[in-house]
Amino acid sequence: MGATGPRRVLREPGDVTHRVRFGNVEVGGDFVVVAGPCALENQEQVDRAAQAVRMAGGHALRGGAFKPRTSPYTFQGLGEPGLPMLAEAGRKQRLPVVSEIMDATQLPSVLEYVDVLQVGARNMQNFSLLRALAKVDRPVLLKRGFGSTIDEWLLAAEYLLEGGNDQVVLCERGIRTFDTTLRNTLDLAGVAYVKQRVKLPVLVDPSHSTGVAALVTPMALAAAAAGADGLLVEVHPTPETALCDGPQALRPSEFDALMKGVSAVLAATGRRMAEVRPLAAVGGTR
Ligand code: PEP
Ligand code: MN
Repeated sequence: MGATGPRRVLREPGDVTHRVRFGNVEVGGDFVVVAGPCALENQEQVDRAAQAVRMAGGHALRGGAFKPRTSPYTFQGLGEPGLPMLAEAGRKQRLPVVSEIMDATQLPSVLEYVDVLQVGARNMQNFSLLRALAKVDRPVLLKRGFGSTIDEWLLAAEYLLEGGNDQVVLCERGIRTFDTTLRNTLDLAGVAYVKQRVKLPVLVDPSHSTGVAALVTPMALAAAAAGADGLLVEVHPTPETALCDGPQALRPSEFDALMKGVSAVLAATGRRMAEVRPLAAVGGTR
């Protein structure tokens, strides 16, 4: 790592992994799974996804309202009207909710409805956004940029810690390499490295890192074996109708099988799935 000043993210000898609360569940201890659709589409879709996540033993619900799409001609997400749908589905299933923020101007609405603020790969080095998120009392899920080195990723996290927010969870979501066979290349060695050197928890996203539903479960199992603190997985009630990232979305039954397989890998490596601790029926814990 380059000499670029103090490193708050680094693990000192004897440090345990920093714990970050997503609702009632702690990330950085037992294994935590965040799952849900790529994009919020309508209340029924997100409700069905939330039910699938809850029934399979997932810990938090994800869903994007503000979608950073490569082309301006594809579905851009519902925007702000999507956020209450996500919050409502989370409330019904008593799951905390995770959603992406693309710009600091979205903070008031995102803070109203969302428990965990996701910074997407394309915004990992949006320093004005990072500085704004450093000032809020809400956990941040920081995805690795697909063209970013591990050091750049850790320095992005450093912006949050240095600015006053240490509720940071990293997420490896695949990087761009010479090989274009798959959507991205999952850097699992990078995850094992970060687990050894950094005190922040690390999730793995087997969905964007492969782009193919059939590869999501194998990479989820590998991530658990590699020591990741959890997963971020795309699940859709009907992937064939998804408005965004359908080819990589798991059906509810496939997600259920993933959860069982991951539990077995965790048991084989002396770890376990975190207990599901539903939010209170009325109100939240944020
Ligand atoms: C997402 O999680 O839906 C997403 C847009 O991911 P990424 O920022 O990693 O591409
Ligand atoms: Mn997606």
